[in-house]
Amino acid sequence: MQLSRLENGQLLRDEQLKRVIPHRSTYEERWLFIAPHDDDIVIGGGLLLQQAVREGKRIKILITTDGSMGYCNLEQKDSIADTRRRETLESFAIIGIRDVEWLDYPDANLMRHIGRRPASGEQQRAKPEEIAGFTGLQNSYTAHLRRFRPSHVFVMSENDYNPDHKVVHQEVLISLFHAEGAIWPELGEALDERPHVYEMAAYCNFKEDPNVEIAASTAELEQKLEAVYAFQSQKQIGMLVENLKLNGPYEYLRDAGFNYYSPARYRTLFRRKESGEGV
Ligand SMILES: [Zn+2]
Repeated sequence: MQLSRLENGQLLRDEQLKRVIPHRSTYEERWLFIAPHDDDIVIGGGLLLQQAVREGKRIKILITTDGSMGYCNLEQKDSIADTRRRETLESFAIIGIRDVEWLDYPDANLMRHIGRRPASGEQQRAKPEEIAGFTGLQNSYTAHLRRFRPSHVFVMSENDYNPDHKVVHQEVLISLFHAEGAIWPELGEALDERPHVYEMAAYCNFKEDPNVEIAASTAELEQKLEAVYAFQSQKQIGMLVENLKLNGPYEYLRDAGFNYYSPARYRTLFRRKESGEGV
């Protein structure tokens, strides 16, 4: 596998992940993938995952939705969530990953679960995750970030037509802020180091250009396609697999450079202007 990273105009190439997706914190290296849907991560990162498994990285997959809206015929309507759960475990097993957890928020309805609220009085069919008497995406993500204590967090890009993707991206980033702070102590001990955040894409192009490339072999692409094919209940998967085949054994990631507002970063902009005007 040929791995590349663009940084400050330099192109770094390696066959190992350490230069391309560096681990700079003092935390043990732990990769947490947070997805809206069960199939997003193998579609966007099935090649990356194979390399990470080979290098022995500790990997956890968190799937936000229950998959209940993914039925393609009416007979599947009541059983689709269970079917997809089986397919998901099979798909990740092909890549060699077993740590998969669902948060069970209702598929195609994450907009109603933004934030955090007391868990009682929620009237719905899905049973979204409840921790410490609260529910909501920020409750779940904050608790899981504090529990798993990742060095790296991977999310799907927010530049997607699917609103579930936009919501997860937005809620994970604010939850990283919560997880580092003292807020909501019942959700666990605050993180003392900020994880690196990377974005992956599955259905739409990135908002800003990616800076990491994974160039794999045909055999590795075949393994990824096999993992994608495991989602047999998703009838649209055939079209997707064709697209993945056409694009070859390549994947891209973007280091989101997750950080907070720093006015110092902008000072030089105005200094340059001042000298340009001869003041
Ligand atoms: Zn998705």
